[in-house]
Amino acid sequence: MASTLPTIERWGDLRNKRVLVRVDFNAPVAEVDGVTTVTDDFRLRSSLPTIDALVERGATVVLCTHFGRPEGRVDERYSVAPLRRALEVLRPGVELMENLRFHPGEEANDPDFGASLTAGFDYYVNEAFGASHRAHASIMVPPTLLPSAGGANLQREVATLLALLDEPARPFIAVIGGAKVKDKLGIMKVLAAKADAVIVGGGMRYTFAASEGHRIGDSLFDARYVEECAELLAGGNILIPVDSRGLPAGAPFGPDGGSEAVREFGEEIPDGFEGLDIGPQSVEIFTAALQGARTIMWNGPMGVFEDPRFGAGTEAVARAIAASPAVSVVGGGDSVAALASYGLEGDVSFVSTGGGASLELVELGDLPGLRALRESPWA
Ligand code: AMP
Repeated sequence: MASTLPTIERWGDLRNKRVLVRVDFNAPVAEVDGVTTVTDDFRLRSSLPTIDALVERGATVVLCTHFGRPEGRVDERYSVAPLRRALEVLRPGVELMENLRFHPGEEANDPDFGASLTAGFDYYVNEAFGASHRAHASIMVPPTLLPSAGGANLQREVATLLALLDEPARPFIAVIGGAKVKDKLGIMKVLAAKADAVIVGGGMRYTFAASEGHRIGDSLFDARYVEECAELLAGGNILIPVDSRGLPAGAPFGPDGGSEAVREFGEEIPDGFEGLDIGPQSVEIFTAALQGARTIMWNGPMGVFEDPRFGAGTEAVARAIAASPAVSVVGGGDSVAALASYGLEGDVSFVSTGGGASLELVELGDLPGLRALRESPWA
C-alpha cells in the first residue's frame, strides 16, 4: 500500500543526530525592489511541521531541494538564495543546501551523488511530495543508505489523494484542464472509471471535440490521441464544453493580455480562429454539475487564465468548487495559482503541493519516491 510509509515518530530522541530533509521548495519568485523574492511560500510552509517536529526532538536539520531547471550546471539564476531568505523568515537558522540540480547526478539518479548527499547524516526524511514522482538521486538513494521516513505533509498528500479513489462520497466530479491532452489522458482514464462525471476544459478539450467531428479551427490539437478521446467519450460520463471564447489565430495572448477583441463561438470554431477559454453556456453547465457534487478533484485551468480576457471559465469553476460543501482537492501549479489569485485557497478542503506527482499518484496508485521509502532496509 502506497499509504503505509515509515514515519519520523519511531525514531524517538534525536539529540546529536543530523537529519537530511528533502523538501520541494520549487516556489515561484519575482524581482521585488531589485531582489529576487519568493512570491508564494505555500510549499515552504507545508514542510514546517516536519522541520519543527525534528528540531523539537533535538535534531540538527539540513534541507535540500531542486529549484527550476539549471540542467545539471551551476547557474546563479537558479541559486536557492531567495529560498534561503524566505526560510530565514519562517524558521531562522535552518540550513538549506544549494540547488540539487546544479549537479548532473541529481536528475540522472547517480548513486554516487546520492551517497554524497547523505555523508555526515544519521537519518533521511522525504518531505518533497511534489518531487516524488521523479526517480532522482535525492529521492531514491538516501533511503537505501539511512533510516528513512516520509514527512507529515507527504503522508497527508498521499492519504488524501488515495482516499479520493477509495470510496469517495458521491457524486464524485473531477475537473481536468490544462494545455496538453497527452499529459492528462492517463489520469482521465482512471477518473472516468472512478468518478461520476469528468469535466474537461483547457486546450486539451479540443482534441475531444475533434474526435466528435466538431470543427476546432486553429485551437490546440493532438492528432495522436483522437481515438483515445473518442473511446473516453463513449463511456458517457465525460462533459466537454459546448462553447468557446477565443481570438483570430496568431493574435497575441498571455499574461500581458492583448488588444484584439474576444470572439465567441458555439460548438464549432471556424478556420483561422482559436479557442482560449470555455464560453458562458459551458460555465453554466459545469457550475450546475459541481453544485451537486460531494467530492471534487480539480487539476488544470479551463482556459488561458493568465490572460485577463480568458480567465472567466477558470474563475467560475474555482468559485463553484470553493462554494461547494463537497470534499474538494485541488492539485497542479496552475490551478493552485488560479485559486490563490481569486483568494480562494482557504475555501477548498485540500490544496496539493504537487501537480505532476498528484496526477501520477491518482493514475498509478504509487510513486517512485514512496516505493523507495517502503523498500528502505530500515522500513
Ligand atoms: P498544464 O500545464 O497542462 O496544466 O496547462 C496549463 C496551461 O494551459 C496554462 O498556461 C494555460 O494558459 C494553458 N491553456 C489552457 N487552456 C488553453 C487553450 N484553450 N489554449 C491554449 N492554452 C491553454
